[in-house]
Amino acid sequence: MIEFENVYKEYSNGVMALSNINISVPRGDFVFLVGNSGAGKSTMIKLLIREEKVTRGKILIGGTDITKLRKKDIPKLRRNISVVFQDFRLLDKKTIFENVAYALEIQGASKKEIKKSVNESLEIVGLSNRALSYPDELSGGESQRVSIARAIVNNAPILVCDEPTGNLDTDTAWEIMNALIKINERGTTVIMATHAVGIVDKMQKHVIKIANGCIATDVEKGGYYENN
Ligand code: ADP
Ligand code: ADP
Repeated sequence: MIEFENVYKEYSNGVMALSNINISVPRGDFVFLVGNSGAGKSTMIKLLIREEKVTRGKILIGGTDITKLRKKDIPKLRRNISVVFQDFRLLDKKTIFENVAYALEIQGASKKEIKKSVNESLEIVGLSNRALSYPDELSGGESQRVSIARAIVNNAPILVCDEPTGNLDTDTAWEIMNALIKINERGTTVIMATHAVGIVDKMQKHVIKIANGCIATDVEKGGYYENN
């Protein structure tokens, strides 16, 4: 469903962040992008959501080469891929319900649709009881779960997470993982960049390891340090 074909990314300052990346992520997969800081994980994610453009190569999503998309078609791509970042990026002045509802409001969804979708999303991440709270009343783990609820509210088939447990302790990180597992079980493809060794080892999912901008290993099922 998602394929990188001979992808290269050179930033304008001359840094070659990715070289000859070839990966394939089937529909419904749960895949970890692992590797040291600076390896190129965030760059892969930025290419996938067209926050950055490839220098060379193709990125196919459901057969469409997204590197060829025009600017006006990027919002359509973003409806297929939603993103969760390490920092939660919630709107302080809005309630949890309003934070999750925001994207749907912009798309012009009806009040009834919004209520249904937001409540479903909050339910999946276990935060139905916090709908009327404000972001500053939540713990880090709860805040991250809100940002996940916000990401899944429009039912995009792909969820991309960049270090979603990066700032959280182990127990809290597993609350996040349990939400992601649930979302994946409903059919969403989950792509998660991380260097949380314990989590990757425990999950035994598809693991793609990047080192110095190249694919070091790619195992269908394994832990952090698995070899091909
Ligand atoms: P990771 O997410 O694995 O930590 P990144 O994709 O952020 O790695 O970075 C890969 C390499 O690209 C690093 O050498 C980093 O310094 C460089 N890099 C990342 N973003 C930029 C940018 N906007 N401009 C220049 N170099 C960048
Ligand atoms: P991460 O751990 O997610 O890779 P970083 O702390 O490496 O994040 O980078 C934070 C931000 O700075 C990212 O958006 C990345 O693109 C940008 N960045 C990273 N390295 C460079 C660089 N060498 N030059 C310019 N921007 C960079």
